[in-house]
Amino acid sequence: MSDTSTSALHLLQTVFGYPAFRGQQAEIVEHVSTGGDALVLMPTGGGKSLCYQIPALVRDGVGVVISPLIALMQDQVDALAEVGVRAAFLNSTQSYEEASRIERLVRTGQIDLVYVAPERLMTERCLNLFQDSKIALFAIDEAHCVSQWGHDFRPEYIKLSVLHEQFPNVPRIALTATADQQTRAEIVHRLQLEDAMQFVSSFDRPNIRYQIVEKANGRKQLLDFITGEHGGDSGIVYCLSRKKVEETAEFLNENGVRAMAYHAGMEHTKRAANQARFLREENIVMVATIAFGMGIDKPDVRFVCHLDLPKSIEGYYQETGRAGRDGQPASAWMAYGLQDVVLQRRMIDESEADETFKRVLGMKLDAMLGLCETLSCRRVRLLDYFGESSAPCGNCDTCLIPPVSFDGTVPVQKLLSAVYRVDQRFAAGHVIEVLRGVETDRIKTWHHDSLSVFGIGADRSEQEWRAILRQVIALGLVTVDHEQYSSLKLTDAARPVLKGGQKVQLRQYQKPVKQKRPTTAA
Ligand code: ADP
Ligand code: ZN
Repeated sequence: MSDTSTSALHLLQTVFGYPAFRGQQAEIVEHVSTGGDALVLMPTGGGKSLCYQIPALVRDGVGVVISPLIALMQDQVDALAEVGVRAAFLNSTQSYEEASRIERLVRTGQIDLVYVAPERLMTERCLNLFQDSKIALFAIDEAHCVSQWGHDFRPEYIKLSVLHEQFPNVPRIALTATADQQTRAEIVHRLQLEDAMQFVSSFDRPNIRYQIVEKANGRKQLLDFITGEHGGDSGIVYCLSRKKVEETAEFLNENGVRAMAYHAGMEHTKRAANQARFLREENIVMVATIAFGMGIDKPDVRFVCHLDLPKSIEGYYQETGRAGRDGQPASAWMAYGLQDVVLQRRMIDESEADETFKRVLGMKLDAMLGLCETLSCRRVRLLDYFGESSAPCGNCDTCLIPPVSFDGTVPVQKLLSAVYRVDQRFAAGHVIEVLRGVETDRIKTWHHDSLSVFGIGADRSEQEWRAILRQVIALGLVTVDHEQYSSLKLTDAARPVLKGGQKVQLRQYQKPVKQKRPTTAA
């Protein structure tokens, strides 16, 4: 063992109280401690912090940690203080006097680690301070924030390339838990880390069981899932809107599940109180928008549920990754339906983003839909997205109960024809009524009961048609035109299917499991 690694291990044991390094930590610590640059990809909970904290202690000078998570700095500093590491932060929440005091400690080397927000670092004052001080290393946390295509883009991150220019001899370590191949390349390029050693850990979270079910009555399915599989456990339920967060929390409470709400529209003190309660208590469910979770370290979260479709696999992975951080079995459960696909596509269409960015968002959504619709192992699909190949896991719904697929070419052709026959001017509900031969007033008014497609799909239920339509939209054969009453439109990709050259394999619609509890009569 080298001197560096002996002293690193010694610090791990005596300061942090852990017997051994985990995964690639030892290699990373050795590399950075001896002055190398590094790019570290490690899933949430993998132990990224020690990868820069220990080298900062091993090396002379102050370790500078750049983090966008101002709200967490105090906690991080407190945790370090508890084990006797001299840490502080510089950000906009502190007084001028306090900042000056910390700056003096940095300048005189009386501190081991200092956390700064990127916008703070970029100030003349801060850069001058670091020029005048002995710097052990720069750690760039949440490095994916540099990616313009990512969901956490921070413009100030782009400017972090000055570190390389102004401090060429100080090692830099960039860390992130979410980076597909493209984002990884962008981090390397923008932060000028071409010569950095890359450490890529496995993103697999084997103790998490992935399940994605067809949404019928989402809330009720959620309740059945929680009471059936996780009675008494703590968990997080993600919803898209604040309103739905409130309603779902209320619904769970009415049905005997202790639940709280969390979203950005809530009063700050109430939100903070709910978060503190969630961290402290057992048998508690947090219903939240994605505003909740950055840096939440509650090891015994047994389940993470999604009542709405996440925008990307990165988001899904990050949110579900909050389950089972203690390594014990945990669940990632999601209910997903036609409305989710329609809504997410619409949000992209209606966003202010430019065309290129919309295309990236569309690709990310497609990957997410692919994960939902896959007929093979969810984990294989998920890991593949992060560039990791693996074998079927045996711990996801598709491995445990393989979905039945069928040649859906004929029903898809019927559906596409119906969209075409109603001149691509009607929404999902109407098209399905035409297929099923329902004689509504609207159908009569438009004489759609005299179309050749009227009633050709009477053999399938409305739910089945919705499931088929959902997959057809996910496959990109049909789009929903939100400018025109959500009417369905054929895409160019529909032609080869309609003309009969191309087959379509579909997932069999599975009826939601029947409720055990008697439902109250309406
Ligand atoms: P990340 O930043 O990658 O999400 P953290 O650095 O917060 O992960 O570490 C996650 C948890 O794992 C923390 O509670 C940390 O104390 C613990 N941990 C990290 N490294 C080790 C180790 N070598 N041995 C034991 N526990 C560790
Ligand atoms: Zn699997």
